[in-house]
Parts: sequence; structure tokens; C-alpha cells
Amino acid sequence: MQIKRLRISGFKSFVDPADLVIEPGLTGVVGPNGCGKSNLLEALRWTMGENSARSMRGAGMEDVIFAGTATRPPRDFAEVTILAEREGEETEIVRRIERGAGSAYRIDGRDVRAKDVALLFADAATGAHSPALVSQNRIGAVIAAKPAERRAMLEEAAGISGLHVRRRDAETR
Ligand code: ATP
Ligand code: MG
Repeated sequence: MQIKRLRISGFKSFVDPADLVIEPGLTGVVGPNGCGKSNLLEALRWTMGENSARSMRGAGMEDVIFAGTATRPPRDFAEVTILAEREGEETEIVRRIERGAGSAYRIDGRDVRAKDVALLFADAATGAHSPALVSQNRIGAVIAAKPAERRAMLEEAAGISGLHVRRRDAETR
């Protein structure tokens, strides 16, 4: 799977809609302190299904919604769209959160469960907990991980953790 575009609206400091094109290869995000670099990676992880508010550096999940500044009122919702290419086909994953209404997910315009999004990313060695996405505070976590946790990280990097997700899903049907 290749992520080709990221559209962010109302998510953290991205109050105005931002449309980012991600070219193949290595992508670097540069800018002064506080300009939103970490928020950008968080938007990506959040859309992939991250459900820990703490790992989004908030107390509750609604803290990802633009909270307002001295000159701009807060927003009621945040929405992030990932445009990806999978086996030659384009697919669009959307996560939206509204104040008081929680999160909703769509894949290619259809309402889906959070689990469906997790399954979509499970095989791709991407996903919200992928070691491919290393945030500032996670570098220490990788170093300090217990062997079992590190094994899980390696399995994910190798793209086989999706098999466990699939098996659990199959067992609960
Ligand atoms: P550094 O170089 O220090 O790591 P950074 O580019 O990673 O900085 P971020 O942490 O992504 O910066 O962005 C921090 C900014 O995002 C702060 O100005 C903070 O006020 C703003 N921010 C975070 N959450 C929200 C929110 N819900 N609403 C509005 N602004 C927010
Ligand atoms: Mg940062």
C-alpha cells in the first residue's frame, strides 16, 4: 500500500483544509518548533485507527479537534482523509470526529467499523502502531521495549501481524 495524499481539516493546528501530496520515496517534514510536524503524523496514525488519546497527546479524543486560538473560534469536527493505492487501485479512508458524537470511518464512501480500517492497514506494515511511524516520544519506547513488545514491533514491520488480526477476526465470527 502506498499513501499518496493526505487531506486534513479541523485536526489540531490544521484548522483550514490542507491537502498534502506524498511522493514515492522518503518524505521529510521540516519546519520550526510548534508548526505542526508531529500533528501531521498524528493525523495519519489517527486515521489508521489510533484510539489512544494519550498517544495523540490529549486527555480525550475530542482534543484532536481544533480548539481555537485568540483569533479563530474552535471547530466542531475534525476530518482526515488518506488516499492510498493498493494493488493498483485507489482507495480512500476517512475518519471524522464530531464533538459529542465520537468517531466515524468511511472506506471509499461506505460507512465502516474501526475494525475494517484496522484490517485494511493490518497487512500493509503500516497501521497506527507501525514502527514505520516513529514519533518523537516513541523512539524511547522502542529502545525500552520488553522482548515481547519488541517482537510484536518486528512482526508488524515484517507484515505478519495482520495475520493475527485476521485470525482473531475469524475466530469471533
Ligand atoms: P516540534 O518541532 O517542537 O516537535 P512540531 O512541529 O512537531 O514541533 P506540533 O507538536 O505538531 O509541532 O504542533 C504543536 C502545535 O499544535 C501547538 O502550537 C499547539 O497549540 C497546536 N495544537 C495542538 N492541538 C491543537 C488543537 N486541538 N487545536 C489547536 N491547536 C492545537
Ligand atoms: Mg514534534
